[in-house]
Amino acid sequence: MKIGVLALQGAVREHVRLLEQAGAEAVAVKRVEQLSDLDGLVIPGGESTTISKLMNEYQMTEPIRQMYQSGKPIFGTCAGMILIASRIEGRDEPHLGLMDITVKRNAFGRQRESFEASLDVKGIGDQFQAVFIRAPYIEEVGPGVEILAEVDGKIVAARQGHLLAAAFHPELTDDVRFHAYFIEMVRESMVTNAEV
Ligand code: GLN
Repeated sequence: MKIGVLALQGAVREHVRLLEQAGAEAVAVKRVEQLSDLDGLVIPGGESTTISKLMNEYQMTEPIRQMYQSGKPIFGTCAGMILIASRIEGRDEPHLGLMDITVKRNAFGRQRESFEASLDVKGIGDQFQAVFIRAPYIEEVGPGVEILAEVDGKIVAARQGHLLAAAFHPELTDDVRFHAYFIEMVRESMVTNAEV
C-alpha cells in the first residue's frame, strides 16, 4: 500500500511521518505522474486558495478527481478539507468538489484563530487532541455523510464513503489513530476495487 501526501504547500512531512508510523508506505507528491501508482491521497493543511492554484498549474485537479472516481480514498485536513468540499461559503465554485459538505473558512473567528480541543471521534476513539489553526468547519452535510466529531456544536470531522475530512491538523500530534483509520479505509478500498 502506498499513500501520497500532496506536497504543493503546507504540512507535508508530518503527514508522511504519521502514515509511516501507522504502518503505510508514504510519499510526498509533487508531480502529476506520481498520482498513478497511489492507493490513497492525503491533502494537507496550508492555504486552500494557494494549493488550489498550484494544483491547477501542475494539472493535478482532474487526475485527483479521477483517483476519487476510481475508488481511491482521499483524506483532506484543514485546507485539504476545503479543497475536497462541494460547497464553500461565499465562493461560487468549489475546488475539487468531491464531498457533499458545505464548509466555512476561517470559521472560528479571531479570538480562536488557533486552539486545541480534546475530541471524541466516532470510529476513531476518545480524547483525540486536535490542533486547530485558522480552521474551517463544516456547516452542512448531505445525506450520505457521517459526522465523526464536533466542537461547540460545529462539525469538524466527517466521512462520506472513501472520503475523510478533518477541520484540524491530526498530523501535529503523535497520535496515529486518525492516520490508522485512513489506512484502514485504503485497505478496504483495495479489497473492494480488486473485486470489481
Ligand atoms: N485558513 C486556511 C484556508 O482557508 C486553512 C488553514 C489551515 O489549513 N491550517 O485555506
